[in-house]
Amino acid sequence: MAHARATEAGFEADMRETLRRSPWLLLSAGLHAAAILVLMQFDFRRTVEPTPLGIVVTLQDEALELLEPPVVVPPPPVTPEVQEVVADEPVIVEETVVPLPASDASSELSALDDSPFTGRGDNGCLGTGGGAGRPGGGPYGQRVPGRGGSTATQCSVALGLEWLRRHQDPRGHWDADGFHSRCGETLCDGKGHAMNDVGCTGLSLLAFLGAGHTSRSGAHRGVVRDGLRWLQSVQDPDDGCIGSKSGQHFLYGHALATLALVEGYHLSREPLLRRPAQDALHFISRSRNPYKAWRYAYPPDGDNDVSVSGWMLFALFAGREAQLVVDDAAIKDGMAYLEEMTDPTSGRTGYHEKGSFSAREPEAMERWPADRAEAMTAVAALLRIFHDPTAQSPALAGATRLLAAKPPRWDAAGGGVDYYYWYYGSYAMFQQGGREWDAWSRAMEPTVVSHQRREGCETGAWDPQFDPWGANGGRVYATAINTLCLEVYYRYTRLLGSR
Ligand SMILES: [Zn+2]
Repeated sequence: MAHARATEAGFEADMRETLRRSPWLLLSAGLHAAAILVLMQFDFRRTVEPTPLGIVVTLQDEALELLEPPVVVPPPPVTPEVQEVVADEPVIVEETVVPLPASDASSELSALDDSPFTGRGDNGCLGTGGGAGRPGGGPYGQRVPGRGGSTATQCSVALGLEWLRRHQDPRGHWDADGFHSRCGETLCDGKGHAMNDVGCTGLSLLAFLGAGHTSRSGAHRGVVRDGLRWLQSVQDPDDGCIGSKSGQHFLYGHALATLALVEGYHLSREPLLRRPAQDALHFISRSRNPYKAWRYAYPPDGDNDVSVSGWMLFALFAGREAQLVVDDAAIKDGMAYLEEMTDPTSGRTGYHEKGSFSAREPEAMERWPADRAEAMTAVAALLRIFHDPTAQSPALAGATRLLAAKPPRWDAAGGGVDYYYWYYGSYAMFQQGGREWDAWSRAMEPTVVSHQRREGCETGAWDPQFDPWGANGGRVYATAINTLCLEVYYRYTRLLGSR
């Protein structure tokens, strides 16, 4: 009996203890269940967000490329706050040093190789968003396709890059007059001049770099790697000039190729690109007229023009941002030359005479009246902003008024199509922001996007024959510069801020 009472008392004590604990046990179980429910709200398989058109923006590096299926990752111990940061702010991953070998682009992009190009081109818009660029205090901010612009401009950029990829020579360059050897069943027309391979290759590479593809990251990294390797292969080991010094426009080619090499180095920090980029910048100093700017001759012969000088100055600004050695006197004197060519009353910058209209080849003067564009004014405006974003000059205000009065418009019969002007004008007006930029972009977007080819092998390209420089650069030039034009929303940081 005593034993039974003791057992009963012990049981009661156990029950009291259990009951005393049970709220905590219940609370603990409840908390675990709630945690599991919260975790189930997040899809840990992906850290990228598809846009409405299916264009996927790559936020980290090539491991997240759109062509690969989402990788299933075990749920990491993250909080919802961390998840939001990943969605909004691309994480820059420290990359390991790799040599710059020839790529096997075909294996990387087999899915794109097989993509059917229908008449509407929709299937070609598979999304080729590149990896994020590197942060910087100057104009080279994060390059994240998807910020700004529209699904239409994003699709257009993807298709433009895809056309350039398909027409890249196996040796890495873009052949201004022989690119059609890469065509499929139908041949693309629009040959450029044989002497412009270096310039066309530089411009094409800039289009890939502008969308975030570097030699190390992005779906098109193989394309970029091969292109940059080719530029290095044609660089003079003694003076740094890229390509042969023949023809009238080789300094144009050198400037564009230098800009591509410097951006390629800056955005990838690829050590093997440093020396060629630096050597190319040195040649820019060597080819400059003392106390002035640049034109066609090497050694320089005293001639200057704003067009060549503009590309040279952009290459120098890029070199400064990349922390390469840059000739500060060249920037100072080059900017002074721009002011010398600018009419202080109108704000118009001339080609090589103060306040005159845009340049034209003699044979193009009649078909493309020079007064339809303000290309040199746009070049000078953008350079002024890059040079000193805080300066408020009457010349810049005048330039903005001139550009605003001539927005992009498809006036082929009247000679108003000018891709070079639209490119520089878009970048200059984007920097202005506000109503000026809104009006310009409302004109530019539909004009450029709707004239991109959407049939056959030409899908993704723009026609060169409507443009005053089309005979020089051909379809490669037309496609590269229009693709760059549509990258305006994210290629450079807005330095002036939105007003
Ligand atoms: Zn083709």
